Amino acid sequence: MYYSKLLIPTLRDDPSDAETVSHKLMLRAGLIRKVASGVYSLLPLGRRVLSKVEKIVREEMEKAGAQEVLLPALQPAELWQETGRWDKYGRELMRLQDRHDRDFCLGPTHEEVITDLIRREVRSYKQLPLNLFQIQTKFRDEIRPRFGLMRGREFLMKDAYSFDADVRAAETSYRRMYAAYHTIFSRIGLHFRAVEADTGQIGGSSSHEFMVLAQTGEDAIVSCDRCEYAANVERAELREASTSSSAETRKAPPKMASVSTPGQKSVEEVCAFLKVSAHALVKTLLFVADDLPVAVLVAGHHDVNEIKLQKELGAATLALANRETVEAVTGGPSGFSGPVGLQDIDILADFSLKAQRECIIGANKQDTHFKHAVAGRDFQISRYADLRNAIAGDPCPRCPGKLVIDRGIEVGHVFMLGTKYSDTMDARFLDQHGKKQPFVMGCYGIGLSRIVAAAIEQNHDAHGIVWPRQIAPFDVEIIPMQEKKAPVMDAAIQLLSALEAKGLQVLFEDRKERAGVKFNDADLLGIPLQIVVSERNLEAGIVELKDRKSGEKQGFALDQVVDAIMRPGNGPISE
Ligand code: ATP
Ligand code: MG
Repeated sequence: MYYSKLLIPTLRDDPSDAETVSHKLMLRAGLIRKVASGVYSLLPLGRRVLSKVEKIVREEMEKAGAQEVLLPALQPAELWQETGRWDKYGRELMRLQDRHDRDFCLGPTHEEVITDLIRREVRSYKQLPLNLFQIQTKFRDEIRPRFGLMRGREFLMKDAYSFDADVRAAETSYRRMYAAYHTIFSRIGLHFRAVEADTGQIGGSSSHEFMVLAQTGEDAIVSCDRCEYAANVERAELREASTSSSAETRKAPPKMASVSTPGQKSVEEVCAFLKVSAHALVKTLLFVADDLPVAVLVAGHHDVNEIKLQKELGAATLALANRETVEAVTGGPSGFSGPVGLQDIDILADFSLKAQRECIIGANKQDTHFKHAVAGRDFQISRYADLRNAIAGDPCPRCPGKLVIDRGIEVGHVFMLGTKYSDTMDARFLDQHGKKQPFVMGCYGIGLSRIVAAAIEQNHDAHGIVWPRQIAPFDVEIIPMQEKKAPVMDAAIQLLSALEAKGLQVLFEDRKERAGVKFNDADLLGIPLQIVVSERNLEAGIVELKDRKSGEKQGFALDQVVDAIMRPGNGPISE
């Protein structure tokens, strides 16, 4: 394809409204343009990359036995009311009304629609297992759409749903999808890790997230430095700290005493002011769980994990208490809360505090903390539990190893749903004995448009994008340096035909631009191989082949460069 004919509006400078590398580069390389917050147009190069991702995903889904369907984006409220999600999904659900004032939403996901289809069409165990997938636009009115395609309000997802006769068969479906996901992300050329994920309110069964490792990832993931254990930080279990007996025998801490901490609210401020480490401090956070206040204590260097807390409390709703509630419950201003004197509310403490003999805590009084506070002596703990996020160096829950923390971008999610939807929507089939049974379901999502951003996040350098070969918008870019010189153009066009004849996708840089501009744009676009055809090299009978990733340049005779590109280990097709 000729560059001059394509819409590739490159930008020389970083756009001011883009924060992440991938967002900047997608705008600069002319892959996307913003239409509204979280809503983007894909331009020709962006569309090409996305199509390649789609192709790989589609192929692997079909290999894994899933059948493609296309469900509607526009969904009637009744289906969502049946599962209760019309209310539960909250403001992320894009709602609208038709001309008859009937409620609809634009699908953020498709469990309701697919379960409705299957309960109408599948009657017998003989029709199972069944796995249906689609590639379709999803709509979610995210609180904070950002980073371009990474977190959009409209985005492309592959979602698949499996239906099985029993849990064992459903586990087989789950494992097949899990394996297919491994193949997909490997084929795309991503450096990724599958981690155990939280199953949220659904609880119980398995769930894994596929994370592309990248510094800018919104998710923190833990993995063990010894064994295979890896989990989303929200999910990572922490063991109860062992209380050392020597601690018991040491002499009791001095009496609790108040210290003045004027204006020092945060852990950092208090620690700096009192010249102690964050380990010495205990944070007291007030939450409201199902309308009841509860105090939660964690060490100064730890953070409360709200998912664990909510599970521990068995609460349907959980939120940090607002300023008024904090004042009403503690009698002091927020920022100085502590457990001493708190009455009539549960005080939960993280496991790790069991081993702590004394601590510094808020005194429920303006500009005041207590030192030498001792649990059981100066304040009471209702119970200890695993309530915090893992941090680097925590012990692995499976082996004597230690946890390390990485950042990741969630590109895929596999989830055992069990009978959650088949029960609420009464979707049942007849088993061998003629008895009605609920379908056992699984659901499996991949963020196709997010993958494009994640791939760039992982594959770029100071000059621009460095596409993994399988999803590059073109395989090769030919750059004739002097477009006015007939021998240069003749040789370049000859190469174009030869490469296209081999089935390669070639971008032909025919613009009337300075060589410097062409080179810079070529590096920005990140096509894996560049062939530079120059007058001087042609006189010696050669052209230059540049590998975008390594930057290596090599001269090849004009009639050998195509073979060199197609050679296993070098050609874009062969990897
Ligand atoms: P996140 O925690 O990032 O919001 P999610 O858990 O809500 O993701 P799922 O419902 O599991 O996501 O959706 C399946 C996949 O769709 C995710 O793994 C992710 O790759 C992608 N995805 C989800 N939300 C968005 C979004 N707003 N923009 C782009 N891709 C998204
Ligand atoms: Mg989400």
